[in-house]
Amino acid sequence: MSFEQMEKLKTKLPEWLETSRLRTGQGDVAAYIPELAKASRDTLGIHIADSQGQTVSAGDCGVPFTMQSISKVFTLILALMDHGEEAVFYNVGKEPTGDDFNSMIKLELVEPGIPFNPLINAGAITVSSLIAGDSPEEKSARILHFFRKLASNERLDYNMDVYHSELETGDLNRSLAYFLKQNGVLKDPVEDVLSVYFRHCSIEVDCSDLSRMALVLAFDGVDPHSGEMLIPRRYIQIAKTFMVTCGMYNASGEFAIDVGLPAKSGVSGGIMALVPGQYGIGVVGPSLNNKGNSIAGVHLLERLSKEFDWSLF
Ligand code: GLU
Repeated sequence: MSFEQMEKLKTKLPEWLETSRLRTGQGDVAAYIPELAKASRDTLGIHIADSQGQTVSAGDCGVPFTMQSISKVFTLILALMDHGEEAVFYNVGKEPTGDDFNSMIKLELVEPGIPFNPLINAGAITVSSLIAGDSPEEKSARILHFFRKLASNERLDYNMDVYHSELETGDLNRSLAYFLKQNGVLKDPVEDVLSVYFRHCSIEVDCSDLSRMALVLAFDGVDPHSGEMLIPRRYIQIAKTFMVTCGMYNASGEFAIDVGLPAKSGVSGGIMALVPGQYGIGVVGPSLNNKGNSIAGVHLLERLSKEFDWSLF
């Protein structure tokens, strides 16, 4: 972080965050997973990490939340590391859909019935089935181990209340999975695949964990703090491209125009963003806009991007 940017962030970030927090009343928390409805609508926090170990944070950055869709970026990377590009993209496409994240519509309409991309639910469920391991438990253990390494936090764990809440109410995801099974895309039993998928969605983090994971993406797969290469550069390139084209649901185009950074959001109100070669950013703001993204979180990222000219475009 440059000295000037750091100084400006330290003095201005709390004020910018409070301005964005005023937006939370215009959105609402996700309720289709009952446990997520318990989140506070006014929560807003951010944590920014750089390669030298400097950090800046503001607001409710210590509030824990589950990764939900943000986890899909890293399960995709793990599946690519397990099987390579050809095998993964034989089962999942590479294109944005313009449909809701849990939509089934294109699975039926478009040949050959594979999900459009790895970040919509159908795609991420398929990716979960591709994680190496002899049982759902072994697959989940490998995912958790990988996430802990990326976050540099051995204490990362599942929020089992959220996991059970989604397991009990996730019938739309169950329908998607049965459809994929019928199409021959899923090889394992549906409930086994879903238990891996729901489990990684329910891994609990805070903004600082998310910023550390994003930092590895920002530095092309190398953890800049340890110097360890954790992800091959090619897979980072793939993950960042999906983040830009479909990371923010059906507002990905708008987000690319207004913020211009690779990012992935989740229904719990988390957003992971990165400034390539510079920063990893974690945001939490459970009040969502009508596109399913944190309403205040997007506002804050837009402010930061404009202030520091972070847009890649
Ligand atoms: N676990 C959530 C679901 O499958 C993730 C959705 C999201 O964050 O977009 O519905």
